[in-house]
Amino acid sequence: MNKKTVPFTEKQIREIIAKYPTPFHIYDEQAIIDNVRKLIKAFSWVPDFKEYFAVKATPNPYIMKMLKAEGVGSDCSSMAELILCEKVGITGHDIVFSSNDTPYEEYKKALELGALINLDDISLIEYLEQYGPLPEWICARYNPGPLMKEGNDIIGTPEDSKYGMTREQLIEAFRILKGKGVKHFGLHTMVVSNELNANGLINTAKMMFELAVEVQQKLGINIEFIDFGGGIGLPYRPEESFVDYDVLSAGIKKYYDAIMEPAGLTKVRLSFECGRAITGPYGYLVTTAIHHKHIWKEYIGVDASMANLMRPGMYGAYHHITVMGKENAPKDHIYDVTGSLCENCDKFAIDRPLPEINDGDILVIHDTGAHGHSMGFNYNGKLRSAELLMHADGTVTQIRRGETVDDLFATLDFSDL
Ligand SMILES: *Cc1c(COP(=O)(O)O)cnc(C)c1O
Repeated sequence: MNKKTVPFTEKQIREIIAKYPTPFHIYDEQAIIDNVRKLIKAFSWVPDFKEYFAVKATPNPYIMKMLKAEGVGSDCSSMAELILCEKVGITGHDIVFSSNDTPYEEYKKALELGALINLDDISLIEYLEQYGPLPEWICARYNPGPLMKEGNDIIGTPEDSKYGMTREQLIEAFRILKGKGVKHFGLHTMVVSNELNANGLINTAKMMFELAVEVQQKLGINIEFIDFGGGIGLPYRPEESFVDYDVLSAGIKKYYDAIMEPAGLTKVRLSFECGRAITGPYGYLVTTAIHHKHIWKEYIGVDASMANLMRPGMYGAYHHITVMGKENAPKDHIYDVTGSLCENCDKFAIDRPLPEINDGDILVIHDTGAHGHSMGFNYNGKLRSAELLMHADGTVTQIRRGETVDDLFATLDFSDL
């Protein structure tokens, strides 16, 4: 269970709206900070624990800067994400470049910034060497494929995933890299997404520890860092529960002690690349009900659309909705809450029991702090919204303005018509 509360009152949000019209995403700064501190504290037993925030989740430099102050680095996979790190002053091993299908210019930028390079495939050794020397530190991404099914309850089928290399390839890649003078080795994987069961995440760690020992036995290489990727889940539904970081940490420690210690791998740095779990629950899409219609069903039309939050339309994902000022009113109406795209999947909720909604009511769509604004798009000429940061004292800073029609047309030259 988790309480789907909002960190502001109706009066407060209406004051914010008076200055920044809906729709917008608003992020709760203190809640994000408290959450990331809790994660880091849970792993304080690790010789050198690092959370690399997955920039794609919320690629906003103000969010990145706030996390940087907490000792959090960045997980990047594109040129734009690397440039954001550069602007924020995140460099060196505070960046892990966990990309795939990567053009050389992006590796070049990552190498210039001193980022840890995470190789997605064995063929990339030759690819990188065409352009210049290999870095001294290298990480390789593992795809366990069907091996993952052995005695654990991880969701998903890694053998259908395009990422990483097989066990044989990974061992071979490290053998080649060692021969070429690479000095420091790391392992990476990401085989779960939005996982709410701590055991799924703990079993991933166990698999990686066993792999580290295998690498040691086969190649005499002592792995120096292991990155478990992202994937800590978010309880989007009120009946779901947050992953308990202490339970997760204790479960991972158990295997660290049992598998790594006996092999003398005691100073290995551990990291995550979580995005969703860090900011997701602390962002809210705020929108105004502007229309209602009654045909075969009851529809509430809001001023946000799928262009502001793609997850419900794309995956049928559940996002909780609070109607401001009616938090305790009976949910005695069944609505579809829709945006204005000419796509019938542009619905934030389908057949959702909610209190009676009137035009002008403020709806808050929960859990949009990660993979929300960042997945926005411009189909149908829709504009991406502003992003606001709410501070502990209730004041608000606009950390990204909303797009204008001029932004949308910036790549067109009307003078040649
Ligand atoms: C998307 C992604 C993440 C972040 O995933 P979350 O679900 O936000 O935790 C981390 N690492 C890699 C390589 C990714 O592709």
